[in-house]
Amino acid sequence: MSNIKPPLAIINSQTFANNVKLMRTKATRHAVYGVAIAVVAIVVATLGHAYLSYGKISLDSIYRAQQENAVLWVLDGLPFIFAFWGQYVSSVIAYEASAMITEQTEELRQQSAELERKVMHDSTHDPLTGLPNRSLLLDRIQQAIAMAQREHKQMALFMLDLDHFKDINDTLGHYQGDLLLKQVSLRLSNALRPSDTIARLGGDEFAIFTPALTDSKDVTVILDKISKVFAQPFVLKEDMPLNVKSSIGVAIFPEHGRDVDTLIQRADIAMYVAKNSHRDYLVYSSNIDQHSSQRLTIMSELSQAIANDDLQIYFQPKISCKTMEVCGAEVLVRWKHESMGLIPPDQFIPMAERTGLIGPLTNWVLQATCQRLKTWHGRGMDLKVSVNLAVQTLLDPEFPETLTGLLAAVDLPKDSLMLEITETSVMQDPELALKILFRLRDMGIAISIDDFGTGYSSLSYLGEMPVSEVKIDKSFVLEMLNQQKDAVIVKATIDLAHNLGLKVVAEGVETKVIAQKLGGLGCDILQGYLFSRPIPGPEFEIWYHRYQDNIAARKAAVAG
Ligand code: C2E
Ligand code: CA
Ligand code: CA
Repeated sequence: MSNIKPPLAIINSQTFANNVKLMRTKATRHAVYGVAIAVVAIVVATLGHAYLSYGKISLDSIYRAQQENAVLWVLDGLPFIFAFWGQYVSSVIAYEASAMITEQTEELRQQSAELERKVMHDSTHDPLTGLPNRSLLLDRIQQAIAMAQREHKQMALFMLDLDHFKDINDTLGHYQGDLLLKQVSLRLSNALRPSDTIARLGGDEFAIFTPALTDSKDVTVILDKISKVFAQPFVLKEDMPLNVKSSIGVAIFPEHGRDVDTLIQRADIAMYVAKNSHRDYLVYSSNIDQHSSQRLTIMSELSQAIANDDLQIYFQPKISCKTMEVCGAEVLVRWKHESMGLIPPDQFIPMAERTGLIGPLTNWVLQATCQRLKTWHGRGMDLKVSVNLAVQTLLDPEFPETLTGLLAAVDLPKDSLMLEITETSVMQDPELALKILFRLRDMGIAISIDDFGTGYSSLSYLGEMPVSEVKIDKSFVLEMLNQQKDAVIVKATIDLAHNLGLKVVAEGVETKVIAQKLGGLGCDILQGYLFSRPIPGPEFEIWYHRYQDNIAARKAAVAG
């Protein structure tokens, strides 16, 4: 009894009392059986003794047996002992069992609360660094603005971007890149106050939001703290100190913006101009808007470019590993700029995502794709193509209907389109993303998980998602012959995807050796420069026929 822990305070005492009562009733029943057995034993023993000693069973012989036999006296006491012991033990067992049940219930309750907290944390934090993500940052700024307006406070938003991070990633590999991002976030967290929000917005972009400035001189103090973060080299691989620099853009509330969007946009512009003019930092001012920076041009012109059809879609083939035939193509957008030439998507998609232009841009890409497909289908070139989908589009509840409308307008079968989404975009709002993905699946549209392996948290979701294909990120494929770790990831992804009944695409296949290695590992589809770079539709059509004819000729030669 000593090891019974008192029931936890949270437990409803009424429930506990009811449990004890119920258990005691059950235990008491067994005590009653004990008493009954003892009484039967006394009766049998007394009758036996009376008969054996006096040759008959009568009231007199029974009375005498009871008077003379000391063993029967002991037996007579048993019902009382059983009754008392039964009651006592039943109470103890009832209490013990109830305490156990209530404790386990409480443990389960705590576990589910913990799980809920974890899901909440995952959807608001960056899985790599554990820092708040964009949506939590926006939320905090919004709240702070609501308060600051009443209290006439100043606040600052710092946008920070590492210089040459892409080169670090490309030359040292993304493990070292990730390590650097973690070290940067750790140093920033140590340098700033707990009341400041440090967020990772994606890639090598961080934001620091300081909600309590005494005056604008505080900005200099904070910039000083941040510059100290980068003063010491970062040590990634042993004995390899790496000097990393950053560019920072600052926007101050309320001077440079009174709402979240303006603040972010202006801090972003300041950061970009700082980077382009090789300055460590720049505080926003209205005259940097006049700075002719490529980014600003891009920002202001993109919307016009979409309206003017200055974008162009390119196609890159997907090759079946088994037959080596073309089994599809990926659509990749480009911007044909009057003076800047062909602008690659990496230079305007992230910005389109930030400024809300991604919606019209995606619509444009989908429309152009549908028209091209229609032409090809008309000429007997039945190709399934994949279109990349940004997180905003994926999470737009109206997107499935928009897509249905687009496909119906050109009278294309729904399964001629496939959508590529990233793990990270699903993780921004897993519940909503899953709902929309199921709707798209029900419409007959296949989903592919792009850049697989670069996200961290949604592996567990993969089994639940209605996807049919996984694309291994090119960073692993490009390095799989040099980096053992990358080869392991490629193999593990293929096995995992196959176990889940998914097809595997390897992107970034640049050499024959890699293509063969991937074939040996059981990869289903290959995509990369080995076969073709992304090319415009008309060029792709020529390439396609030439390639397919070649394959057919080779097959005929083998057969004949
Ligand atoms: P992604 O979806 O991962 O596309 C694959 C990128 O890898 C493409 O770059 C492609 O040109 C490149 N690539 C293909 N094969 C190889 C290879 O063998 N070696 C190497 N080193 N690279 C290869 P691209 O066209 O510059 O596109 C970059 C990213 O821009 C895409 O990455 C995608 O995230 C985004 N993007 C492109 N078009 C769209 C679009 O229409 N909508 C959205 N939301 N995003 C798009
Ligand atoms: Ca893609
Ligand atoms: Ca990709």
